[in-house]
Order: sequence, then C-alpha cells, then structure tokens
Amino acid sequence: MTTTDNADSRESSVPNAPKPVGTRKCSLCGGSGDKRGMLRVAKTKDGVVFLDKAKNGKGGGRGAYLCAECSAATAEKKHALERVLKCKVPPEVYAEMKAVRSEQ
Ligand SMILES: [Zn+2]
Repeated sequence: MTTTDNADSRESSVPNAPKPVGTRKCSLCGGSGDKRGMLRVAKTKDGVVFLDKAKNGKGGGRGAYLCAECSAATAEKKHALERVLKCKVPPEVYAEMKAVRSEQ
C-alpha cells in the first residue's frame, strides 16, 4: 500500500533533525567524504577520547571525523576535534592519527 518508501527520502525527510545519522562530516573543513578515508575519534561516556580504528561507531556516543583531505596536524593546530567533542583531545590521539596517516 505505501509506495513512498524510496531511497531518495532516506535523509531529508525530517527537516528539523539536528544531525542525520550516518552523515560523516569532517570536523575541520566541514566536508562529508568517503568514510573509508576518514578518521574517527570517539569520546566515551567517561570522557575518554580515543582514535576509533574500527570505525564502526560502537566506540562511543560522540564521534568526530577528519576527512582524507585534512591533516591531523592542522586539526590539532585548530582544535577542530576539541570543538566537536567539547573536551580536551590528548596529544597521543593526534599522534596516533598522524601515525595512521603517515604524517610527520
Ligand atoms: Zn576535512
């Protein structure tokens, strides 16, 4: 009976939704990219920030993303992840991100 359940309405059906689930937006440039190229940093309920290498979203309630175009070093300099997670991000996390990205 219902025929309006098509793929086109999957994310735009609720105009007032603050953040559609499934959208991965870069914390630094705001672009949403291929999630395979994005790093995910998650914060647990206890306020522990870590690099979520599994990228499955199970690591914590709030997650911040960094797209493949943005460097971890720049994100650190601009406190991009701090702004999204609303807490301090330890240097070890940034260091780990740089290591994953093979940045200096
Ligand atoms: Zn970016």
